[in-house]
Amino acid sequence: MSEVVAGAVAERFEELYGGRPEGVWAAPGRVNLIGEHTDYNDGFVMPFALPHVTVAAVSRRTDGVLRLHSADIDGGVVELRVDELAPESDRNWTAYPAGVLWALREAGHPVTGADVHLTSTVPSGAGLSSSAALEVVVALALNDLYELGLKGWQLARLCQRAENVYVGAPTGIMDQTASACCEAGHALFLDTRDLSQKQIPFDLAAEGMRLLVVDTQVKHAHSDGEYGKRRAGCEKGAALLGVDALRDVPYDGLDAALDRLGDEEEVRRLVRHVVTEDERVERVVSLLESGDTRAIGPVLIEGHASLRDDFRISCPELDLVVDTALAAGALGARMTGGGFGGSAIVLAEAADVDTVTKAVQEAFASADFTAPRVFEAVPAAGARRIS
Ligand code: ADP
Ligand code: MG
Repeated sequence: MSEVVAGAVAERFEELYGGRPEGVWAAPGRVNLIGEHTDYNDGFVMPFALPHVTVAAVSRRTDGVLRLHSADIDGGVVELRVDELAPESDRNWTAYPAGVLWALREAGHPVTGADVHLTSTVPSGAGLSSSAALEVVVALALNDLYELGLKGWQLARLCQRAENVYVGAPTGIMDQTASACCEAGHALFLDTRDLSQKQIPFDLAAEGMRLLVVDTQVKHAHSDGEYGKRRAGCEKGAALLGVDALRDVPYDGLDAALDRLGDEEEVRRLVRHVVTEDERVERVVSLLESGDTRAIGPVLIEGHASLRDDFRISCPELDLVVDTALAAGALGARMTGGGFGGSAIVLAEAADVDTVTKAVQEAFASADFTAPRVFEAVPAAGARRIS
C-alpha cells in the first residue's frame, strides 16, 4: 500500500519539478484518546496515530529556493525564498511547511531549500491534526535529507514553533508529538511538561472492541477566539493559585484550590476540568496497563461531561454523537480535539459497531445535521520514511 502511494507521489513530483525526489515520507494525523486542553497546562495527553497520513516527496535545493505543491489545494507550485521567510507573512497553507523550514533555520540548522510535493488522506480541519501531519512530514524529510540528527520530540518542538510563531496559531505540543512519535498498536502517554513518553499497548481488536471516529464535519465560527479565551482563563487560574501551570494543582488538593478561587466562577470551571482531566489520563493509563480496557469507557464519558459542562467547548453535534452512541450501547464516547465541532470518538464492542453507527447517522438525519463521516481508528505508526 505505502509503496503504491510513494510511487504515485514520486511520479507527480517528477512531473512538477523534473527529477526524481530524493525520498518520500509519511506522517499521520491523530486522535486523542483522553487528555483534552491539558497540553498547554503542562499536563498529560494520550493520543494515538491514525492510518491517515500526509505523504511528501522531497528533494534538497542549494540555491535558497523553497518550492511547495499540494495535490489537495487548487493552484500550482508556490515558490518562496528561504531568506525571506518571516512569521505571519503568509495566510495560506504554505505557511505550515514554510514555517517548518523557517523554524529549522532559526534553530541554526543549515537548510538551504527544498522541492516538496505532498498529498494527504488526513481530513483537514476535522480536529484530526492535518496541520501537524503536514508540519511533521516536512520536518522529518528535511531532518533526514540534511542529516540533522534530530529526534522525534525535537522535531515536534520545532513544528510547534512553526505553527505558533510562523502560522500564528497558539496550539500545544500534543499534535506534533503524536504525529512524530506514536507507534502502531499503542497510545502515547505524554507528559507535555518534559515531553517524557510511554508507549501504552492499545489493541482493541484483540479484545473484541473497536474505536470509531465520528467526524461531525462542522466547525463553528469563533472557535479560534474561544480557544484563546480558554487558554487565557487557564493561565489566570494558575496565576491566582500561584503555580507555574495548572498541572501543578494536585488532584487531591482540587477542592481547596477551588475554594481559594472564590467567586471566579469561570476560572473555577476551567481549573476543575484541567485538574480532573489530568487525573483521567492517569486513570486510563493504569486501566490499560492492568488489562482492564473496557473500564476506560466510563472515564471517556466523564471526560466528555467535563468538556461540555466545565470547559464548555462542546456543541450540539458532538453531544448528539455521544448521547446517541451511549444510548445505542457504546462503552464510552467523548468529543476529541479542540472542540466547537470536529470529531468525537466512540468505544464499542465489535458486535455493536453497526448498531451504534446507524443510530448516530439516523440521529443526525433527524436533527437535520450534515451527515457525519464515521470510520474505525486503529492505532497506526508515527512519521517515517516510506521510500
Ligand atoms: P486540523 O489540524 O484539525 O486538520 P487546522 O486548521 O489546524 O486543522 O489545519 C488545517 C490546515 O492545514 C488547512 O486549512 C491547510 O491550510 C493545511 N493543510 C492540511 N493538510 C493539507 C494538505 N494536504 N495540503 C495543503 N494544506 C494542508
Ligand atoms: Mg491543527
